[in-house]
Amino acid sequence: MNILIFGPPGSGKSTHSMHIVEKYGLSYVSSGDIIRGEIEQGTPLGREMAIYLSRGDLIPDTIVNTLIISKLRRQRENFILDGYPRTPEQVLSLENYLYDHGIKLDLAMEIFITKGESVERISGRRICPNCGAVYHVKYNPPKIQGICDRCGSRLVQRPDDKEGVVKKRYTVYTRNMESIIKFYRKTGIYVRIDGHGSIDDVWKRIEPLLDYIKAREDSFRGR
Ligand code: ZN
Repeated sequence: MNILIFGPPGSGKSTHSMHIVEKYGLSYVSSGDIIRGEIEQGTPLGREMAIYLSRGDLIPDTIVNTLIISKLRRQRENFILDGYPRTPEQVLSLENYLYDHGIKLDLAMEIFITKGESVERISGRRICPNCGAVYHVKYNPPKIQGICDRCGSRLVQRPDDKEGVVKKRYTVYTRNMESIIKFYRKTGIYVRIDGHGSIDDVWKRIEPLLDYIKAREDSFRGR
């Protein structure tokens, strides 16, 4: 089973990706992880990408396509792809790769939350700069407001987690994904999952869908 997963900031898609990897034995291919890895290792592509990011520019599609497709090539079947494709050019590149290798996507799953929910989940995050513990002012508050339970340091909000920044990230996500969602709707594999509620609530919506796809795949194999 080969699936795409996407969702606005704070949708919980990384958490659910991990559940999916565990239960269905898929390989997790994350564009964010791959790009960070290349930059940390200082590969030629990594150094090039670091320059774009330091200027605040987007990494060109040609570089992202090269990285993701070469990773998929090693992976072949049974993957969950996170953070890719994000542009129409990336969709084309992925479609060409899948076509050339006779691979089929089973599902393009969006975990959807509203802008209000996205802002509440992310702007409420507080982190400990000393030990890295993560809190949420509403869902997971420390015992003493603003102080880390583990080490007593003063908690901070990441600049990226501020309300204005989250709203902007949400808008950019919606704008970028519009034509991509339209495409996967047409191909018939797009499913929108309601991402509101607890992690368990959302998982109960995802699991039956994946169980169904898995069962269908097994029955094809059995023939
Ligand atoms: Zn701490």
